Amino acid sequence: MEFERTHEQEMLQSTVRSFMEAELYPHEAEVDNLGHVPPDLGRQIEKRALEVGLYAANLPPEVNGGGLDYSSMAMVEREYGKTSHALHSWIGRPTEILLACNDEQRARYLAPCVSAEKRELFALSEPEAGSDIMSMKTNARRDGSDWILNGSKHFASGPVMPDFAIVFAATGVEDTPRGPRKQITAFLVDVGTPGFDIREGHRCVSYRGYHTFQLDFDDVRLGPGQVLGEEGKGLELAGRWLGMGRIWVGATCCGKAERLFELAADWAANRKQFGQPIGQFQATGFKLADMAVELRAADLLVRDAVARADKGEMRDEDAAMVKLYCSEMLNRAADHTVQIFGGMGLMEEVEVQRLWRDSRLERIWDGTSEIQRHIITRSILRPLGA
Ligand SMILES: Cc1cc2nc3c(=O)[nH]c(=O)nc-3n(C[C@H](O)[C@H](O)[C@H](O)COP(=O)(O)OP(=O)(O)OC[C@H]3O[C@@H](n4cnc5c(N)ncnc54)[C@H](O)[C@@H]3O)c2cc1C
Repeated sequence: MEFERTHEQEMLQSTVRSFMEAELYPHEAEVDNLGHVPPDLGRQIEKRALEVGLYAANLPPEVNGGGLDYSSMAMVEREYGKTSHALHSWIGRPTEILLACNDEQRARYLAPCVSAEKRELFALSEPEAGSDIMSMKTNARRDGSDWILNGSKHFASGPVMPDFAIVFAATGVEDTPRGPRKQITAFLVDVGTPGFDIREGHRCVSYRGYHTFQLDFDDVRLGPGQVLGEEGKGLELAGRWLGMGRIWVGATCCGKAERLFELAADWAANRKQFGQPIGQFQATGFKLADMAVELRAADLLVRDAVARADKGEMRDEDAAMVKLYCSEMLNRAADHTVQIFGGMGLMEEVEVQRLWRDSRLERIWDGTSEIQRHIITRSILRPLGA
């Protein structure tokens, strides 16, 4: 779907498309088959992204980021979504949470992430605390001015072994009108710190080549300079940026759905059975119609949320609606495309099966569909006192 764009946005879109044609698309099948991005290839994508100014495009100019506004960033993420996360994650978009770094932390953590000298991980999920993040067991206790960190994280993901992790840990309990609540603090934890073990974790069938990591902390000593933001305010800090993360997921889903739609339409127009293109059978043609309508609706939802974000008016439920609808729309589109391709849709040589596998993750990460529905329901019922 084409929206009105500024001249700068048209140039940006053309830069991103050319970059993807040259640096990403040619490697999709190889990376999926290998199950990893060859290190030379990853570093080449990184280097080229720095050269064309796409690296850290999400961060503001005052930290040497590209300074893209939300609507430009949504357009860029939509393009990236057409390919594998394993590849486009090498075009670093350092997590905006790092903007909470103090001056010393900016020099040690944020600046090297902007220049691609360092990579970070966002480590919130635990083996026994996924959707129910407040049940986290990872904790940090004070020892003088230091902190002692214990616990485990899993599913923390990235393109490559990171240099440090942003780790969320319980550091106390506070009383609230709804009862006692864990206080969560965010820490910057360097790989190599004694007691911190990090290794590659489970291998995901979506976005093969994008890695998850298992992190274990055994009496890891952290200095006061490793607290990110305010003590006890880690989730509030994460929450400030998680909403935009869900919009970017929505935008990538639209990009991938467009690619699937184009494949499905082309196949439906050219594959003949019973002497006619299969698209002329209503059962197939109506699938294309539904895909087109739903993709347009999803694009409009992203656009609406971005407009709200630009005005500083985006609410949790706006982001939840985008994440929910776009990821479910994508999965319907992926399923329709496999069905339209028939047996060929499941053959390894054809990209449809990979896009179908990749799509499935989108309903799970950054908060499952059920959790998004929960956020939307809460926004409806709370004002009514329920
Ligand atoms: C490839 C990959 C990369 C990831 N990257 C990261 C990362 O970088 N950092 C990070 O911190 N995490 C990451 N995650 C974790 C991801 O955010 C979690 O998988 C997700 O939040 C769901 O948690 P869970 O897998 O433990 O599922 P669970 O929470 O165990 O949920 C299982 C099922 O129960 C349902 N359920 C749970 N609670 C409710 C409820 N209250 N109401 C209704 N249904 C419910 C869920 O919707 C789901 O269907 C990643 C995950 C994957 C697979």
